[in-house]
Amino acid sequence: MSILIATRGPKNGICNICGETGPLTEDHTPPKGCIKVSQVELHHILEHLNKSKPSIKGRYSQNGIKYRTLCRRCNSELLGGKYDQEFINFVNKIGMYLKTELYIPSPLSIKTKPQKIMRSLLGHIAAQGVDRYLKGKITEPLKDYMQDSSLALPESLNIYFWPYPYKHHVMARDCAYTDLTIREPVALWFLKFFPVAFMVTIDEPDEYNFKIGCLSTYRELEIEQEVEVNIDFSNIPHPFWPEAPTKTSIVIYGQEAIVSFDLKKIQQI
Ligand SMILES: [Zn+2]
Repeated sequence: MSILIATRGPKNGICNICGETGPLTEDHTPPKGCIKVSQVELHHILEHLNKSKPSIKGRYSQNGIKYRTLCRRCNSELLGGKYDQEFINFVNKIGMYLKTELYIPSPLSIKTKPQKIMRSLLGHIAAQGVDRYLKGKITEPLKDYMQDSSLALPESLNIYFWPYPYKHHVMARDCAYTDLTIREPVALWFLKFFPVAFMVTIDEPDEYNFKIGCLSTYRELEIEQEVEVNIDFSNIPHPFWPEAPTKTSIVIYGQEAIVSFDLKKIQQI
């Protein structure tokens, strides 16, 4: 199975983050510098965590996904200059814990600056899809949040994460997830790659209660504030959650959704 790896978008156009027209630059997701994993290491990790290998054939690329959709200022000055390093450090610490063959205490805490991780994540997800500015209702608050480092994360967004000891890289935005016991859909963006998965919910109904790590708890922190974030290694969701249907949930990818994986090859779980 191969994922869609593409450099798309015109050389000049509208930046997906700030909405300004001008030369566009390529965004790499995950950002360069994030930890990689070999097939052998992955095998050991899954054994160590007592997880079975997902039943998928083929090879996955770890080169990531590229979209030419951000202006230089948003790409290099904002993401690259201010936020990506904290994101990379966070990701790499989780990756290093997964790679050690030692007993991992759970939860394990990692010292980090959540405001920077959340901004880096949102920036890279926003980069996905050509000409997406003003295609979603959160464009404006997101632009303000990205550009003004003193702002709190918009109330409409929740951000979750969990360790992801798998190799397939999956990214989607603007899809609708429904827990069949709740029935009300929730809009999702997600980004999954070894060693961590992130999920953003938009206007999440109160009935939802995702039992996974939450970064948006820290929405009010100052940009440089550092906290100990707990990582739960004992409760790792299924490798294909949330993108594939389960007995209790479905995901709908509408016309406006952007998905960077091969939907047809993901079997029902
Ligand atoms: Zn921009």
